Amino acid sequence: KWEACLKVIKDNISIQAFKTWFSPITPIKLEDSVLTIQVPSHFFYEWLEEHYISLLKKVIKKELGQNGRLEYSIIMEKNQTNSTPYTVKLPASNKSSLHNSPVTMPLHASEKQIKNPFIIPGLKKVNVDSNLNPSYSFENFVEGDCNRLARSAGYAVAKKPGGTAFNPLLIYGGVGLGKTHLAHSIGIGIKNQFPNKTVLYVSSEKFAHQFIDAIKNQTTNDFIHFYQMMDVLIIDDVQFFSGKEKTQDVFFHIFNHLHQNGKQIILTSDKAPVEMQGMEQRLLSRFKWGLSADLQAPDLETRIAILENKMYGNGIDLPREVVEYLAYSINTNIREMEGALTSLLAQASLNKKAITLDLAKQMIDKFVKNTAREVSIEYIQKVVCDYFDLPIELLKSKTRKREVVQARQIAMFFSKKMTKSSLANIGAHCGGKDHATVLHACRTVNNLSETDKQFKSYLDDLEKKLSIQ
Ligand code: ADP
Ligand code: MG
Repeated sequence: KWEACLKVIKDNISIQAFKTWFSPITPIKLEDSVLTIQVPSHFFYEWLEEHYISLLKKVIKKELGQNGRLEYSIIMEKNQTNSTPYTVKLPASNKSSLHNSPVTMPLHASEKQIKNPFIIPGLKKVNVDSNLNPSYSFENFVEGDCNRLARSAGYAVAKKPGGTAFNPLLIYGGVGLGKTHLAHSIGIGIKNQFPNKTVLYVSSEKFAHQFIDAIKNQTTNDFIHFYQMMDVLIIDDVQFFSGKEKTQDVFFHIFNHLHQNGKQIILTSDKAPVEMQGMEQRLLSRFKWGLSADLQAPDLETRIAILENKMYGNGIDLPREVVEYLAYSINTNIREMEGALTSLLAQASLNKKAITLDLAKQMIDKFVKNTAREVSIEYIQKVVCDYFDLPIELLKSKTRKREVVQARQIAMFFSKKMTKSSLANIGAHCGGKDHATVLHACRTVNNLSETDKQFKSYLDDLEKKLSIQ
């Protein structure tokens, strides 16, 4: 059974993550739909719980049925001669039971068969689970030149939600640079100072799913009301709304209501408002009412400070040279840098070895190679445009010039093949096309590559260029 679970898990996470966190697990027994797995350390257990709980729950349900449960057995770390494992039970419900508040937003209202998930009758003030992650606090957010403006704007908003010129506050920047962390910090700051304010953090994806469910269940009014009751609304990764007109519509109404009533809105995005394609103009213009602050890639000192902060928080100590090597080798994405640090620790705890510079080098070099291979849509567009000697703006535009159309189709084809982006998202990047157009493009390219040798050789060339990156 565990084998079957592993297969599903493997398809859902990166190879690196799979190797680090799932290969070392040993299944021990299966009894009455309770599967016990052995993990190498408590650290491992916590990491799994924190990062893979929903995936684990899904596969366990799938493989063991509705009553399926997972138990961990942890190998004693301190006392290695005594290898009696101790067991931690994983309740069928997840860790959100930590936040013990009366109402949580069900992701799939229909699944829980709640007709009116958004409204609590008889209550003026809603009591919601804010969904804030306490470890993403301002205290844990290291300041540097790269984030100073965004951080201090966030800080000001946390002190005076709705009472600054920064409404909405839009934090934007590349992947893994701290947008989500900072957004949580603001929410946490507000909750600390104004415990009675209703603060809600929600990802754009969840917001959009809830909206779809509300349409299905005919509870869109409740959905809107629920969101209009917030004092502070934090929506993460709004670029996800690109190309989703209805979702943008409903968000527009909620936005206006909150803004008119002096409620604070905090948004994050991986792009600046001017670069957000597939987003309605009226929304974009509202995003500009407040402040847009960007997060840049951190410089070396800040990267070292972030690593030290993280180690300190976890009671870990590493040689200075290892920390510096790590900070030097991974210089764009903080999440990846932290990922490398954790795999390093996992490896060390697994092999019971101290982390020397040599060990760190071996590990990190592998890690960097592995992650560098993920290409982005933008990168694909750039490579395709260079190849056909076209300006990238044309590819992103709506023009129907023959040579542009073909290059655009090829870019869509590789984006579908090599990234995890949705068809809608790919379309939004390529001149605001819809998902059907993208699908059509992929088919066209496929067909052509089968019939046209010249075309096929272009494709092969491009594929090579894209995979060396
Ligand atoms: P994004 O949302 O921009 O993709 P995240 O907020 O998820 O990025 O950040 C990725 C990781 O990097 C998180 O673990 C976060 O805690 C950490 N991080 C980012 N910026 C900082 C910072 N300035 N100080 C400390 N940790 C940071
Ligand atoms: Mg994020």
